[in-house]
Amino acid sequence: MQGVMMNIKNEIKNFHEEMTTWRRDIHAHPETAFEEVRTSAFVAEKLEEFGYMVHQGLAGTGVVGTLSTGNGPTIGLRADMDALHMQETNNHNYKSINDGKMHACGHDGHTTMLLGAAKYLAETKRFSGTIHLIFQPAEENEGGGKRMVEEGLFEKFPVEAVYGLHNWPSLPLGKIAVREGPMMAAYDRFDIIVKGRGAHAAMPNQGVDPIVIASQVIMALQTITSRTLSPLDSGVVTVTQIHSGDTYNVIPEKAHIGGTTRWFKEEVQDQIKSSIERIVKNICQAHNADYELDYMTGYPPTVNHKEQTELAIQTAGKVLGEENLILDPDPTMGAEDFSYMLKEKPGCYLFLGTARTDNDPTLHNPGYDFNDDALPIGASYWAQLVEDQLKD
Ligand SMILES: [Zn+2]
Ligand SMILES: [Zn+2]
Repeated sequence: MQGVMMNIKNEIKNFHEEMTTWRRDIHAHPETAFEEVRTSAFVAEKLEEFGYMVHQGLAGTGVVGTLSTGNGPTIGLRADMDALHMQETNNHNYKSINDGKMHACGHDGHTTMLLGAAKYLAETKRFSGTIHLIFQPAEENEGGGKRMVEEGLFEKFPVEAVYGLHNWPSLPLGKIAVREGPMMAAYDRFDIIVKGRGAHAAMPNQGVDPIVIASQVIMALQTITSRTLSPLDSGVVTVTQIHSGDTYNVIPEKAHIGGTTRWFKEEVQDQIKSSIERIVKNICQAHNADYELDYMTGYPPTVNHKEQTELAIQTAGKVLGEENLILDPDPTMGAEDFSYMLKEKPGCYLFLGTARTDNDPTLHNPGYDFNDDALPIGASYWAQLVEDQLKD
């Protein structure tokens, strides 16, 4: 944090070392979607120790810690707890001991920053109202946030607003990027099976070659964003898988194409979806092939609400200094299941800069490691947000 003027809360600074120990403990024991048993028990134990009412079991491993003092408003702060299915390549003494699992998205840091704020808020109680600290499972792919909402998160724990954040290793430590409106895109997935007719490779006229047809489909899919969407709208159609054939002298029966799409506006989703259908149907028909298309809806876009974004900006400015706020960041085409909470309740989601160097490993890189210097910064942002908003 050298050279960065910040208003980190002194009480929180005092347990930076303790938070680092928690973070590294969670890092060494990564757990993936809905299996965050150890992590969830760790969180529940800490919250109980700090004096929170603890609820366990929403979305399986979800934890909600509640603390009330005075009669002010109620807000929710959310952190995610899950790791990724990847092999860590770091060699530090707290590297993952769970083979094929890794905290490569920094959710170990998110959980720790919220626990740090939890400890501070319980010790100081400089607020009036109620906080619900929401620790969710399965942010990566599986939609643990969605499941918590479906299982009655906001009926059991009604809030006036809900807040989230993500560490951002391409942003310098101590900066915050946030904007009203879309922060992150929606994501969907698709599977296409082109069904041809197998034949001898030397007698293609006797078959229907799914590889040639799939190739045309893939090339034509590129025209959705370049020729179908308005140049002023954002969208992505990416093919990430193609599988067909096993040997040199056989035309296979089928080809599988899989991929993902990203968008912000529902009308763009409709355009992308119907364009994929039109392209696949007509190219297959032109070549006498059959097809199956499965278009699966994923997370909605993460869209910040105006009033809560303004409040978050004020708090972030106090903690980090206004010169460290980036208020017009481009939204990213990545996706986030905090979007489900923001669809139910007004709130704000922001990016907290955590870079150590100009060239830190990115999120989901096997060499990534959450920057522990960010722990007191994120915890102070959470604590200040509560103190700023929860007043009589
Ligand atoms: Zn991730
Ligand atoms: Zn993440």
